[in-house]
Amino acid sequence: MDRTDPHHRHRPARGRLAPSPTGGLHLGHARTFLAAWLAARASGGSLLIRIEDLDASRTRGEAKAGCLIDLSWLGLDWDEGPDIGGPSAPYVQSERLATYADALERLKERECVYPCTCTRADIARAASAPHLEDEGPVYPGTCASRSAADAESLGDRPFAWRFRVPAEPIGWDDLVIGPTSIDLSRAGGDFIVARSSGPFAYQLAVVVDDAAMGVTQVIRGDDLVASTPRQILLFEAFGLPRPEFGHVPLVFGADGRRLAKRDGSIKLGTLRESGLDPRRLIGWLAKSWGLAEEVIPSTPGDWVSRFSLARLSREPWTVSAEAWQELLGPGVIGPPQAG
Ligand code: GLU
Repeated sequence: MDRTDPHHRHRPARGRLAPSPTGGLHLGHARTFLAAWLAARASGGSLLIRIEDLDASRTRGEAKAGCLIDLSWLGLDWDEGPDIGGPSAPYVQSERLATYADALERLKERECVYPCTCTRADIARAASAPHLEDEGPVYPGTCASRSAADAESLGDRPFAWRFRVPAEPIGWDDLVIGPTSIDLSRAGGDFIVARSSGPFAYQLAVVVDDAAMGVTQVIRGDDLVASTPRQILLFEAFGLPRPEFGHVPLVFGADGRRLAKRDGSIKLGTLRESGLDPRRLIGWLAKSWGLAEEVIPSTPGDWVSRFSLARLSREPWTVSAEAWQELLGPGVIGPPQAG
């Protein structure tokens, strides 16, 4: 693969920003969304915003509007989304349940899924995208001998629909990491796409939506790498073309841990209210991506002509005390302690 021009396969790209409204967006989201936005815009393409709010237990109502406010404040824009509509509306997952139900029916007809009555924590967690710490052990296949029709004999017993994974590696040419392959039969095993009592799982919803919305390029954090083979299997099961995937490195706090939403100091809302100039933040993020040597106050659009995925720094980025001061100015005590 020619990594010097990663856009050559899809030009212009149709990208998406898919925030989960589970708390305010933070610096790590801003950095990833800036890369996703630039990747689409630098290809001459378009972007949509989709709110991923299937996990009702974690979704906070005010955070839905907050995501859009945070992203606008950064200077990012979009061509379709919950606030402006578009041909693939609605752009909020909780309003798309009928589409997911149809998709699940197709998986049942094709015997791609079986009803699983194992009570495991991952069944409860399936509505959210599984970030690194959420990946559990391999499902042992306890219920795999069931067919889809066996669900009828389960009566009121709650169950989950599990997708059968093949015992072979699933590969893709990652736009950022390069050729990658994961054997799901050794990493998680058969995975959940829905629960009998709802909700639908992130893996099912994200594939149905990316296909329905015509997304051709998915740029997201590398904690979601293990979701990609699952999503590729679902695209194949539906007979739909898959987007290209690129996974960018995450941001870590000075304590070496991934930035987390619960640390208020790194939330975009907190930074906005503190009076921080978003142009300074964009310049700081651009520098963190290796796009500049210095913090140059700027808008996302200022970086479009200089951007390519191949130029992005491949290293996880740590917000050191110096970096934090570079953003906020001297006299600020300490970098964010993530956790
Ligand atoms: N909504 C997911 C999250 O915030 C992102 C999913 C994706 O980009 O595929 O973790």
